Amino acid sequence: MLRVAVVGSGPSGVYTAQSLLQQSVVPGVRVDVLDRLPCPYGLVRYGVAPDHEKIKSLQQNLRAVLEDERITFVGNVEVGARGLTPARLLELYDAVVYCVGAARDRRLGVPGEDLAGSYSATDFVSWYSAHPDAVENAFGGTGGGAGAALGGRSAVVIGVGNVAVDVTRILARGADELRSTDVPDAALRVLELSGVREVHMVGRRGPGQAKFTTKELRELGGLPGARVRVDPADLALDPAYADSSGLPAVNRRNLEVVRGWADAGRGPGAGPEAARVIRLRFFLRPVELLGEGGRVAAVRFERTEPDGSGGVRGTGRYEEIEAQLVLRAVGYQGVPLPGLPFDEARGTVPNVAGRVLRDGAPSPGEYVAGWIKRGPTGVIGTNRPCAKETVASLLADAEALTGRRLVADPLDALRDLGHDPVAWRGWLSIERAESALGLSLGRGRVKIPDWAGLRAAAREDTQGA
Ligand code: NAP
Repeated sequence: MLRVAVVGSGPSGVYTAQSLLQQSVVPGVRVDVLDRLPCPYGLVRYGVAPDHEKIKSLQQNLRAVLEDERITFVGNVEVGARGLTPARLLELYDAVVYCVGAARDRRLGVPGEDLAGSYSATDFVSWYSAHPDAVENAFGGTGGGAGAALGGRSAVVIGVGNVAVDVTRILARGADELRSTDVPDAALRVLELSGVREVHMVGRRGPGQAKFTTKELRELGGLPGARVRVDPADLALDPAYADSSGLPAVNRRNLEVVRGWADAGRGPGAGPEAARVIRLRFFLRPVELLGEGGRVAAVRFERTEPDGSGGVRGTGRYEEIEAQLVLRAVGYQGVPLPGLPFDEARGTVPNVAGRVLRDGAPSPGEYVAGWIKRGPTGVIGTNRPCAKETVASLLADAEALTGRRLVADPLDALRDLGHDPVAWRGWLSIERAESALGLSLGRGRVKIPDWAGLRAAAREDTQGA
């Protein structure tokens, strides 16, 4: 029998567990899927935007895997805390696969970045996703007021990846459009009173190099209360605008969509004004966030131009865009886990085909999959082949990994260390509590946004059992 711990129950963790069950090389595999939160599904629950119901429904597929009898969900257990070190995990399991993602946002490194009103997009995502670590009322007052964050009329989103598109879309949607989602009630009330009327989404390179995917980009043009504007002068700077034949298909399609919006916005017959405007800007790199009375009031950008090799260089010309809210959507970064090696430059755990490297050599029994293995790129499905590769490495090593005498029953050992694991039925109890909360608010299921609430809901089941 092979006992494996998978750390993290997001897509990469669940796909890793699934690959372990689907193989026939090593019979009798048991997998414990550990998560720091009492809830499973990682970024599918806490990162995928609430209005992306189709992607959210992936939770059903992940659920089917986690409900397999050979898998045990162990929530509310943080590796790296209370003596649960990687070394201790290796005493409890034959193999450990770390699928812990990339939890930190990248910084811009420009003056004014920490002014009030400037946030990482991940803070905003966590807030509207009801992540229990999100700062309560970060974007609005308890009384349901829009507060200072969403009180102003102009917002700047820095970056042109899919996270930038997500936060732009949420800012540009009316709250009514989000009522049927699982967005927390306090966030919904703040969004209802939002004063934001203009959202500028700004890229430092051209539309031909933007990181968003076409489906996500196109969605911005279909929001009922918003209109997209593109400045043709920005596009004209991109050499691919005249000839896009050298671009990868996704970039070419992106450029076509953006070109369509630029054409539609030209001239006096440019269509009706909408409640909100999304302005897509390119070739502008942020150099400073400007404040007034300690709060952000504008972002200063330097105009850039293509350098001929896919990058850009500054031109010494500057432009300011008014903003009472700035969301920095410039990518995620891995976070070191105490006791595991970490490559600071790449923000990943050094590995070869998923095998963790310690001092350049594979460390027996330690593996990685997902963003902590390859960096924060790709869509959810990218994690499937990534997990398969790691599991193939693990299975190739299996003979050498089994046969050791493991020291204890893992769950007892976790409790001995002071952890209070939430089992799958505890999670089901959270689900029921969230449905009841939604019902009491006249909505569908609504997420519980705080640790105390989640833990209390999880315990209800154990008490009743
Ligand atoms: P991303 O795709 O890496 O995009 C980051 C953006 O920030 C790029 O436009 C990048 O520009 C820009 N940037 C980086 N540093 C900058 C700086 N110092 N100044 C100005 N701009 C800067 O990251 P992400 O949007 O966080 O997404 C992470 C991953 O999650 C991606 O693989 C994404 O597709 C995925 N995701 C998918 C969905 C979905 O499928 N619906 C939703 C959310 C996220 P450069 O290109 O010039 O570096």
